[in-house]
Amino acid sequence: MNIHLRHIGQSILNTLFPRYCCVCGRRLLESEQDLCLNCLFELPMTNLHGKKGSTFERILWDDAVYTQHANSMLYYRSKSNYCRIYFMFKYHNRPEIAVNFGRMMAQELQGTDFFEGIDCMVPVPLSPQRMKQRGYNQSERLAYGISLITGIPIDTTSVIRNVDNPTQTHMSVSERRRNVQGIFELADAEALQNKHVLIVDDVITTGSTTRACARAVLKAEGTKISIISLGTSQFNKEKPKPFWIRP
Ligand SMILES: [Zn+2]
Repeated sequence: MNIHLRHIGQSILNTLFPRYCCVCGRRLLESEQDLCLNCLFELPMTNLHGKKGSTFERILWDDAVYTQHANSMLYYRSKSNYCRIYFMFKYHNRPEIAVNFGRMMAQELQGTDFFEGIDCMVPVPLSPQRMKQRGYNQSERLAYGISLITGIPIDTTSVIRNVDNPTQTHMSVSERRRNVQGIFELADAEALQNKHVLIVDDVITTGSTTRACARAVLKAEGTKISIISLGTSQFNKEKPKPFWIRP
């Protein structure tokens, strides 16, 4: 199709099916995707760029979990309009938004060594009930976007989730840890043996669910992990572990 005809086609589509910015609700121009340019420029970027030893990385460590790399592209603030991005792909049947953000997450880290040596990605699984209800796993869609840029394969079968964790609000760190114990299971240890696995999550708040998934992956022999999430609220909440304390 020539460019002129394609442009006319897009204009007609845009008139018949107007699209709206998922953050501010403003009508999108033909050239804009998911977010208007204004909201795109104002994205609350962490600018961590996968740097070793970042605050985010150290918060994820515990006695069993040590990450090779960890990155989160955006700050997550619960009262911000930017939370609508997550609501859209979690509760409003917009998985394509997660794919587009997955692409952005990978593009942001191009030119760094973040993806070097990673063998596969394990998106944090949903329980079978939640999967049936939603029809897709938003973390798998983010991983798919990352794989479009990096070519890293996605493994959705080696780790499974038996149940969804009950709400963790008002729980202490140790209660949260107990709460998520055993919700993930390593279903195929051989598939992950001696692999460097990148765990993909949509948003890391307490970090306890992501760590529980990491612990399941680390049950495979010789496995190393890295973690990537689209958003995190884990800044200035807990005192990060100092550099010299490594599990
Ligand atoms: Zn907007």
